[in-house]
Amino acid sequence: MKEYFSRRRFVGMAGGAGLLATGLAGAGVTDALAASPDGLPRPSGPISPDAGLRVLMAGNRRWVLGRARHPRQSVAWRRFLADHQKPFATVISCIDSRVPPEIVFDCGLGEILVIRTGAQTLDNRVVLGSIEFGPEFFASARLMFVLGHQGCGAVKEAIKVIESGGRAPGHIQAVVDALRPAYYVAKPLPGDLVDNMVRAQIRLTVRQLKREPLLHSQMIVGGRYAMASGVIDIIA
Ligand SMILES: [Zn+2]
Repeated sequence: MKEYFSRRRFVGMAGGAGLLATGLAGAGVTDALAASPDGLPRPSGPISPDAGLRVLMAGNRRWVLGRARHPRQSVAWRRFLADHQKPFATVISCIDSRVPPEIVFDCGLGEILVIRTGAQTLDNRVVLGSIEFGPEFFASARLMFVLGHQGCGAVKEAIKVIESGGRAPGHIQAVVDALRPAYYVAKPLPGDLVDNMVRAQIRLTVRQLKREPLLHSQMIVGGRYAMASGVIDIIA
C-alpha cells in the first residue's frame, strides 16, 4: 500500500487538475463519482478501494488549490439519495472543527461514512462498532481512511496530562488514555513531540484497525492533514 501510493507517485498522478481528470477517467471510476459535480444522478457501479482513494485524494487536491467543486450537494442529489446510499469509503478522523472530512476531501452526500473522535482515538465499544458498519452493511465501502492532523488539540492535551501525571476532567481522560501508546512511541523520537505523536497515532490506528476480523477485507490507509495548506499526505 505504502509503495503503491508513495508520495512521489501520488504527486505525479495528481499534479494538476487536467491530469487529475485524465487519471480518474483512466482509472475507470464510475460516472457517479468522477463526473456530475452538480450531483445529478447517473448510473453507478462498484468502485474499487484504489479508485476510491484516488477520488478522495483528487478532492483534497481541489481543496488545496482552492478549486473545490462541492460536488453532489444539490437538491436533486439529496432527493435521489433519500432511500438509498452507496458510500465508497469510511473516514475515521478527529473532531477538530477545521478538518471536516467532507470539505477537505471535497465530496458530497452519500459518499463517505464518517466517524469522528478526539485525535481519531478508538475504543472497543461504540467507536469500533460504528466503524464496522461500513464493511458490514455496504458492499460499496471497502476503503478506510484514518485522517489525523497537524497541531491536534487532543494530542496536545494528552501530552500535558501524561507529563504532569494528573488527570483530564470528566471523560476526556478516556481520550488521553487511548493516546498513551502514541505518546510512548513519539516521546523518544527527535523533533517536534506533538507532530511525532500525531503521526504515531495515525499509524497505530491503522495498525489496530487492520487487526480487526470484520475489517480484513478493507483497504486501510492513514493520512496527515496540514492545517494551513490543506494538504493530506498518506503516511500509513
Ligand atoms: Zn485533533
